[in-house]
Amino acid sequence: KASAGGYARANDVPHALQLLALAGAAGRILAGGQSLVAAMNMRLSDGDMLVDITRIGALRGVTDTGDSLHIGALTRHAEVGTDPLIRTHAPLLTEAVHHIAHAAIRNRGTIGGALAHADPAAEFPACAVALGAVIHAEGPEGARQILAEDFFEGVFTTALAENEILTAISVPKADAAETQIMEEVARRGGDYALTGLCLVRRAAGHRVAVFSAGPAPVLARAAMAALDAGDIDGAVAALQAELDPPSDTQASAGYRRHIAGVLLRRAVERSGGQGA
Ligand code: FAD
Repeated sequence: KASAGGYARANDVPHALQLLALAGAAGRILAGGQSLVAAMNMRLSDGDMLVDITRIGALRGVTDTGDSLHIGALTRHAEVGTDPLIRTHAPLLTEAVHHIAHAAIRNRGTIGGALAHADPAAEFPACAVALGAVIHAEGPEGARQILAEDFFEGVFTTALAENEILTAISVPKADAAETQIMEEVARRGGDYALTGLCLVRRAAGHRVAVFSAGPAPVLARAAMAALDAGDIDGAVAALQAELDPPSDTQASAGYRRHIAGVLLRRAVERSGGQGA
């Protein structure tokens, strides 16, 4: 069980920022609670002051803003998985939801929580990097936007300041001929991936992001350039050279590197081609 702490419910974003300022270093934003509450119960943190943002309606839902989709931070995994705008314009996110945990967790967990938590094995951070998404944050100094590839800094570490709230993610809408694919290997359905890969193939070129192969999602630039040149073997070799995965009780670094190459080939095959 968690140690004793405090709780306050925010009515809107300015109120949440006020509560965070009052709480100081003990302040913790509570969204779906699917990672935070587990960490509290394991006593990985102590004496937290929870700032519950779950009733802030403005942070929930998906809006078409023209060139992109604006997805509120409190949009739950299950809602992302069934949203028709996302299915049409950002199908990578729809596919990702099938790989995330189980129904009960998907019904509570939020996309903002998954991005802010920045688990190296999580699917949404890698999707955000592969899609070239933008993260929206609000803090005492106002609102700012951070490119997803600059947002994830390390294991459970992002560019968010302690007193900032992640309010939304904007995802560029897919072009007419775009394909978006996720491939991953996990021990069982719903487990975190041993290694996973997102491939986006758009008119402007390929984007490849790998997860569970380092402290943060890896945007595999050399592999992307090789795919743009139509060189799949070169792309696999470049990808494996770009990764520096960890060895742990789940898999060795060599195995993860090998899987990444296999997943890239599978993704290219599913996208219907040899790269460019
Ligand atoms: P919370 O648990 O409420 O918060 C997590 C952290 O993010 C906290 O530090 C919190 O303060 C911070 N935070 C939350 N929202 C915001 C915000 N808007 N602004 C700033 N900070 C914020 N995830 C996967 O991706 N893939 C999986 O396969 C997977 N499997 C799982 C299996 C199990 C058994 C469990 C319990 C969880 C699993 N998860 C998995 C994690 C799940 O997706 C979580 O829901 C998610 O990582 C966190 O989202 P949340 O809304 O529950 O956030």
